[in-house]
Amino acid sequence: MSSFKKNFIFQDINTLKGIGPVLSKYLKKKKIDKIKDVVLEIPYSQTDRSKISKVNELEIGKVQSIQVLVKKLNFPRIRNLPNKIICEDETGKIDIIYFNSREIYLRKLFPLNKWVIISGKVNFFKNKYQITNPDYVSNIDNKEYIIKNIPKYSLTKGINEKRYRKISETIISNIPKINDWLPKNFLEANNLNGWNETINKLHYSNHGKDIKSKSYRRLVFDEILANFLTLSENRKRVRKIKKNKVFNGKLSNKIENDLPFNLTNSQKKTLNEINFDLRDNKRMFRILQGDVGSGKTIVSFLSIANVIECRYQSALMSPTEILANQHYNLAKKIFKNSKVKIEFLTGKTEINKKIQILKDLENGKIDLLIGTHALFQKKINFKNLGIVVIDEQHKFGVKQRSELAKKGGENCDVLLMSATPIPRTMMMSIYGDMDISRINEKPLIRKKILTLSKPENKINELWNLIRKNINDKNQIFWVCPLIEESKFLDYSSAKKKFDIINKIFPNNVGLIHGSLNKDEKDAVIRKFLNKEIYILVSTTVIEVGIDFPEANLIVIENANKFGLAQLHQLRGRVGRGKKQGTCVLLFNNRLSKNAIKRIKILKAYDDGFFISEEDLKLRGFGDLTGYQQSGLKNFKFADPLIHEDLFKLAENFLIKINKENNLENYNFLLKLFDKAEIINIKEL
Ligand code: ADP
Ligand code: MG
Repeated sequence: MSSFKKNFIFQDINTLKGIGPVLSKYLKKKKIDKIKDVVLEIPYSQTDRSKISKVNELEIGKVQSIQVLVKKLNFPRIRNLPNKIICEDETGKIDIIYFNSREIYLRKLFPLNKWVIISGKVNFFKNKYQITNPDYVSNIDNKEYIIKNIPKYSLTKGINEKRYRKISETIISNIPKINDWLPKNFLEANNLNGWNETINKLHYSNHGKDIKSKSYRRLVFDEILANFLTLSENRKRVRKIKKNKVFNGKLSNKIENDLPFNLTNSQKKTLNEINFDLRDNKRMFRILQGDVGSGKTIVSFLSIANVIECRYQSALMSPTEILANQHYNLAKKIFKNSKVKIEFLTGKTEINKKIQILKDLENGKIDLLIGTHALFQKKINFKNLGIVVIDEQHKFGVKQRSELAKKGGENCDVLLMSATPIPRTMMMSIYGDMDISRINEKPLIRKKILTLSKPENKINELWNLIRKNINDKNQIFWVCPLIEESKFLDYSSAKKKFDIINKIFPNNVGLIHGSLNKDEKDAVIRKFLNKEIYILVSTTVIEVGIDFPEANLIVIENANKFGLAQLHQLRGRVGRGKKQGTCVLLFNNRLSKNAIKRIKILKAYDDGFFISEEDLKLRGFGDLTGYQQSGLKNFKFADPLIHEDLFKLAENFLIKINKENNLENYNFLLKLFDKAEIINIKEL
C-alpha cells in the first residue's frame, strides 16, 4: 500500500523522492512545477509494440516490432557510413541501421545467430526493409519490456526519456483513489470515464492520443468545468450588494440631445441594460461588446453622466495614452455645458499636477478621471468611486478583472468595453463572470467598407489610388506583414516599404515598427493624427480604439498572414467618418482554396461576430491568432470546435453546481487546473 496522500500531487515537483535541484530545474522549464503537472502531461504517442510482425507483412512508415535472427554485422571503416546489421526471419530480410553507434555496444546488443526483438519505425530503402536507430532491442527473455505499451512524452533537451517515464510511472501508479466530483450516473449518461480511470488510460492506453476517447473527453470536460466554475465564483465575488444609484437621467438626456446624431437602437438597448444595473443593488460587472466603430464610447459617457448625477465619481481607463487622450478631449466636449469636473492622468503627468489631482480626487472635487492604468496606482484614492469603465479590455485576464473590481470599492460598478469579436462557443469561457451587452448594429451614416483584393505583383497599380485619396484629403494606413521572430526583420521589411512609398510620396509617410518604444511610436501616431503626414506604414498593429476620422484607405500586405477576425478589425480602422472606406488586401500570387474563401467572406460580410465564427471554422482553434490576450489560450486540452458539446454540457452542469452550493466538492478539480488561487480556495 502506498503512503501517498490524495494531495501529494499538489506539492512541488522537487518534493518527490529522487528529484534533485538539477532535474527539478529542467522540469520547471517544461512548466512542470507541481507533481500534478506530470499527471496532466499526457503522452503524445502510445505505441502498441505488443504485436510481433513477420518481415514480409511489415507496413512501411509505422512503428512495429519484429522477432529476427542476427545474420551479419557490418561495420564499415569509412567515416559517415552507417553500421548495418542484417537480420531475418523465415519470411524475409531486414537491415537495422545505426548512425554513430559504437561497435562494442552493437555487438553486445546483436549477438550473431541469436534471436532478438526489435521495435521501431519501418522504412523501405533500395528494395529492402530497414529500421534506423530502433527504439528498442532486446533478447527474447526480456520480451516483456518491449511488449508493454510505452508512452512517449514530449521532452525538452536535458531530460532523459526513460528517467522521465519512470517519474511519471511512479506518480501515476501512486495516485490514491479520488472521490470523483462527477456523479456516476452523469459519467455514464455522457460517456465519460471516472477520474482515476481517465488518468490511467491517458497515460497507458491509446486514449491519450484520441481526442474523442472517453478519457480524453473527461479531461476536457474537467478543464472546461474548472474554467466555468472559476468565472462563476468570480462573478459571485464581484456582484456583491451595493448602494443602488438613484438618478432620473437629467444630465445624460441633455447630453444625448446635444449630440449631432441619434443613438442607434442597439446603443439605446445597451444603455438601458447598464442603467438597470446602476440602479440595482448588486454591483454591475458588465461587458459592452461592439464592433469597431459601433459607438461604444458615447454609451459609456452617458452611463458616466448618470453616475455623476448621483454624486459619485467616475473613472475611465484606456490601454494607451493616445486613446486616453482622445477620450479626454471627447469628454470635455460632451460635458462642456455642465459643471462636471474632468481630469486626465497618465504615467507622464507632471508631478505637481499629479499631486493636485490626487488631492482633488480624495476631496471629491473631480467627477471624472480619464487616463491609462496609472489610474489604478496604490496611492490613488477616490472619495466615492461609482463606476470604472475600461476600454478595449481584452488585454486583461480573469484575475486582473477581479482585482480591478476590488480596487473600485464596494459601491463601484464595473463596465468593460471590447471590440474583440468572440465566437459563441467561447463566450462563456472568456466572459462567464460578466453580464454581456452587445451593440450589434452600426450607425446608419457609416457606409460598408469596400474590400478589394490584389496580387502583390500588381502593387504598382495602387499608387494612383493612393494619390487620389491624398488629393481627397483621405489618410492611408499601410500594414506590412508582422514578422514575429525578429525585430530586425520586422524593421527591415517595413523600412523597405517605407523607402519605396516615401520616394513616391516624399515627406508624407511615417513609419512604425517593432523596435520603436512607446514614446517614439506615439510621436509618429500623433503626426498622423495631426495630418502632418498622410501615409502611415506600420508592422506593429496600431491600437484598435484610436479614432482616425480621416483615414479612409487601408492596404494590408500579405493578408493571408492574418486571421479573418484580425483583418476585419484592421479594416475597421478606416471609414469611421461619413466617407466610404476602402480596404485593399494584398496576396501572394498563388492563393489556397482556403484563402479565396476567406477573401469572399470578408468582401461579403461586415459583422465581426459572424466573421469570428467563420474564422474559427476555417482555421481551427489551435490556429486562432489575435485572441491570445483574451484568455482563450487558457485551454490546454479543450478545443471549442471539436468539443463543442462538452462546452454546452459544462454550462448545464454549472447550473446544477450553483444550485447545490458545495464548492468544496470541486476543490481538487480547481487545484488541478490552477484555478484555486484565482478564487482564493484554501489548501486541501
Ligand atoms: P467604438 O465602438 O469602436 O469605440 P466609437 O465610440 O469610437 O466606436 O465611435 C466611432 C465613431 O462613431 C465616433 O466618431 C462617434 O462619434 C460616432 N458615432 C457613435 N454613435 C453614433 C451614432 N449613433 N450615429 C452616428 N455616429 C455615431
Ligand atoms: Mg473604442
